[in-house]
Amino acid sequence: MKIYIDMDDVLCDYSSKIKEHKQKNPDNPFPQSLPGFFRSLAPMDGALAAVEQLRKNTNVEVYILTAPSTKNPLSYSEKRLWVEDKFGYEMTHNLIICSHKGLLKGDILIDDHASGRGQEIFEGKLFHFGTIECPDWETVLGKLSSELSSNSN
Ligand SMILES: [Mg+2]
Repeated sequence: MKIYIDMDDVLCDYSSKIKEHKQKNPDNPFPQSLPGFFRSLAPMDGALAAVEQLRKNTNVEVYILTAPSTKNPLSYSEKRLWVEDKFGYEMTHNLIICSHKGLLKGDILIDDHASGRGQEIFEGKLFHFGTIECPDWETVLGKLSSELSSNSN
């Protein structure tokens, strides 16, 4: 089973950092363009442990699928650095930086947006992270384990 996991507000806490910067410096409408912004994001609760658990599962291929901030070239390199910081170098082979998520082939996309970057035409199932059906990583892991057991039946 191929699983794609979004970064901002799924693996890393983008929104809290934006809010923090805007409180400190309300005159800058785009704190995400500051050097170091993307690399400094804190992980979402349970995200790192969940990814490590999935990576150990031989029935699962885990990819990180993130749309870049195209006006901010630093976002590309800092997302790559974040992945190495948090998961080690090997995981960078499974990082896909792509503005059109619907082009990818796979079974499950875990994303906090259901549309806008091709999520709406993704061929597999969307786990809409942050919604009532999929509020946190504990729920995601439960849903994935049901998908895996129904796949093997
Ligand atoms: Mg996101």
